[in-house]
Amino acid sequence: MKIFNTMTRTKEEFVPIREKQVGIYVCGPTVYDYIHIGNARPMIVFDTLRRYLLYKGYDVNYVSNFTDVDDKIIRRAIEEGVSSSEISERYIREVKKDMEDLNVMEATTHPKATEEIPDMIAMIETLIEKGHAYEVNGTVYFRTRSFHEYGKLSGKRIDDLEAGHRQIKVAGEEEKEDSLDFVLWKPKKEGEPSWPSPWGEGRPGWHLECSVMSKKYIGDIIDIHAGGEDLIFPHHENEIAQSEAANEVEFARYWMHNGFLKIDGEKMSKSLGNFFTIRDIGERYPLQVIRFFMLSAHYRSPLNFSDTLVESAKASLERIRNAMTRLEDALHEAEDRDAAQEEEALLSSVRTYVTKYEAAMEDDLNTADAISVIFELVKLANSSITPANARNVIREVYDTIDRLCDILGLQAKAEKEILDSEIEALIEERQTARKAKDFARADEIRNQLAEQGIILEDTREGVKWKRK
Ligand code: AMP
Ligand code: ZN
Repeated sequence: MKIFNTMTRTKEEFVPIREKQVGIYVCGPTVYDYIHIGNARPMIVFDTLRRYLLYKGYDVNYVSNFTDVDDKIIRRAIEEGVSSSEISERYIREVKKDMEDLNVMEATTHPKATEEIPDMIAMIETLIEKGHAYEVNGTVYFRTRSFHEYGKLSGKRIDDLEAGHRQIKVAGEEEKEDSLDFVLWKPKKEGEPSWPSPWGEGRPGWHLECSVMSKKYIGDIIDIHAGGEDLIFPHHENEIAQSEAANEVEFARYWMHNGFLKIDGEKMSKSLGNFFTIRDIGERYPLQVIRFFMLSAHYRSPLNFSDTLVESAKASLERIRNAMTRLEDALHEAEDRDAAQEEEALLSSVRTYVTKYEAAMEDDLNTADAISVIFELVKLANSSITPANARNVIREVYDTIDRLCDILGLQAKAEKEILDSEIEALIEERQTARKAKDFARADEIRNQLAEQGIILEDTREGVKWKRK
């Protein structure tokens, strides 16, 4: 598989450190609010990378953190008059709900910054010992110039950065040896969460978290490090400086960055009124449609979100599902017999599409082209498959479309709607259960129907029901 490596700015053949094993670290969200539609892009894109690698037989160790100590979390906690941990725990729960609805697999490990403080302190101590960090009045800084390769990921020259920095003097900067130095540990302020450390009570800097958590859950060298392109500088540059200075080995083999999502061509922002959370969008569209929409563009391209484009994604997904329903119907009617010669030819073109699909995915995760291949298959199914085909031929076409969609985290099988007659039979059964005072069964049926969006109402004239 070829991956575009931000470090070398070229597509490179992916070679894992350990055969058939991949360690992936994806920088996760800061949990102070619901995630927005832009945050969902790296989640969906790198979950798809993981699914493809699993399909290829790799053992994938997927680590993605939650930043649960941060100024934004503290600010929100003060506004609501609750603790920081109450805010972060609440939004971790909500992010996990959104991820589930987006069909993003749970990470192998979802470390939280606040649970890794001892390892963070240990890495800072190593950096101080090696001369890469120093303490002033309870703050520990990374000595940026001590890491000679600083700037290698973002392509920035340290002297240009220095010039930029000199113009923006930040309060408190006087104590730093150099304006380029960044914080590893900051001292406690009144009312903020803090932990004891050799430099006094305080909390870690954001960049340090990822260096520490990736080391603990993957190792000193990670295969793939990923995140949105805004993280290249300074976040990832600083992660490299910390990790390589501390561990003295290359930090990550491949760096992958997704492009940004815009709304109607504009940057998303609260002040422009074009800021959408996944929760808002989920009320307007099934989140499978959002996943399809995100994958219909190459992950490195900028992506524009608009209702027209999402509507078109919705129609495309329906087209796949309609074809699958037709295939299911054909399967029920078809005969069990050997494939005829022309059917063998049809299957061989199906297999060619699978190869084409894999080639697209292997070309730096080109999901846009992979989706086009699925459509070619759908077209073939619609034009060539009828109930007159042998059952195993229909089955192979059906399973292939299903599998190729599943790698993208898309459910191709149309969810069968519960029929009116089935609802009425269940209501009948519930009445019988109630008469027999089997209230447990009666409640179970009510819940089962509720899960399918059927609401029951007990009236004097009997039970009425409606679809939600
Ligand atoms: P944050 O909580 O801001 O650190 O963002 C979490 C992840 O979402 C990071 O990988 C960001 O790069 C990514 N991200 C934030 N905004 C967008 C956007 N508009 N489009 C794509 N990715 C984004
Ligand atoms: Zn990170």
